[in-house]
Amino acid sequence: MDKEFEGKVSLVTGSSRGIGKGIALKLASLGSKVAINYRSNDDEAAKVLSDIEHGGGEAMLAKCDITDSKSVKAMTREITDKWEKIDILVNNAGIVKDTLLLRMRDNDWDDVLNTNLRGAYLCTKFALRTMMDNFWGRIVNISSLAGITGNMGQANYSASKGGLIAFTKAVAREVGSRNITSNVICPGYIVTEMTGGAFAEDMQKELLARIPVSRFGNPEDVANLVAFLASERASYVSAQVISIDGGLI
Ligand code: NDP
Repeated sequence: MDKEFEGKVSLVTGSSRGIGKGIALKLASLGSKVAINYRSNDDEAAKVLSDIEHGGGEAMLAKCDITDSKSVKAMTREITDKWEKIDILVNNAGIVKDTLLLRMRDNDWDDVLNTNLRGAYLCTKFALRTMMDNFWGRIVNISSLAGITGNMGQANYSASKGGLIAFTKAVAREVGSRNITSNVICPGYIVTEMTGGAFAEDMQKELLARIPVSRFGNPEDVANLVAFLASERASYVSAQVISIDGGLI
């Protein structure tokens, strides 16, 4: 099982840091070639590339704003020109613009929906062709518990993540006969830059009391689940919504 992704090609959106970085490193450590997508931070992305190469893996930078159709098309073409295919797509890139609904500006809504939902739609559409041709593919989307329960101050984010869950199931039904699975992961509290590096001190105790395993998650926790869903061992798992939250109550 050591190099179970030998010969596979993965595209991980938003993998210059945080959960996406953890996923890119994990898939590379298991033998996959990895395209590191990000929007703006060249230095962070270059560091991920170098980490993978130093570990003996193969990777490429795939800078692209996933909200832009032409750019996503060009990015997927660049990857298939280099490596001929995309086997594993992880739609991870996401943003927050939190505020109460009555204070929400139209841009707060549009930006979050465009990145978290339209971005996943575009990447899936353009990566799917090669999966269909090869009769093999794995699509793993990163939603959030907010997409299941809704969160105060996150009407835009919750809507985008709930939409991603429905999108995942629809795609699973469209492409299952081609040996392509589509699943969605809903992380709970994972320590990354998005969550401020750590959770605010006054909230920590209260949050931890609701997490039976008594700790916040880290990117590797999510990456381990992605690796399973992307593997041959998960070929009969599709259209599923899987929470990873330490048992959050
Ligand atoms: P981070 O903010 O740490 O990282 C976000 C990544 O997405 C960066 O690499 C960023 O690149 C990239 N990105 C943002 N917008 C775009 C875009 N338009 N095009 C391409 N890349 C883009 O986030 P996390 O690692 O914390 O979160 C990753 C995913 O997990 C998100 O979808 C988030 O909603 C979800 N999640 C996170 C939880 C948590 O507790 N952390 C909990 C539940 C879900 P750049 O900096 O170059 O813009």
